[in-house]
Amino acid sequence: MALNGTYDPDNIFAKILRGDMPAVTVHEDDVALAFMDIFPQAKGHTLVIPKGVQARNLIEMPGDRLGSYMLRVQNITRAVAAALEPDGIVVTQFNGAPAGQTVFHLHFHIIPRWEGEVLAGHSGGKQADMDELKSLARQIAAKV
Ligand code: 5GP
Repeated sequence: MALNGTYDPDNIFAKILRGDMPAVTVHEDDVALAFMDIFPQAKGHTLVIPKGVQARNLIEMPGDRLGSYMLRVQNITRAVAAALEPDGIVVTQFNGAPAGQTVFHLHFHIIPRWEGEVLAGHSGGKQADMDELKSLARQIAAKV
């Protein structure tokens, strides 16, 4: 899907927000939901999505909702840092399929990095072990 288009209320993340699809939740409030990426690029790969908006990407996010959402992105990034103590953290966000976006509900990726560890491909990795994801989610949630 290119940059211009309409929001699909049946995209995977909308379904997760509605409870129609399962997700391993890290943290949730009235502004955002943080959950584990099911095809993680690295251990602890977490996604943060805004609630109550139909924004496919950053461009479409209402300005008056952006600040509170970005605070959640920062809070979860801090929690990932505290819980997993990585050497670095990549925070990324893609706009439009040609830019690498595959799910069209705004989200930020929080991807811990460790020295010498190769990053798995974006949306090309293998599905994570659910018990491991739940354990990581609990560790991160404890630091939010
Ligand atoms: P994008 O490519 O849009 O920037 O990122 C979408 C992300 O969602 C990818 O990292 C992909 O692994 C993840 N993803 C795709 N389907 C699911 C799913 O059903 N559950 C979860 N938790 N993550 C998903």
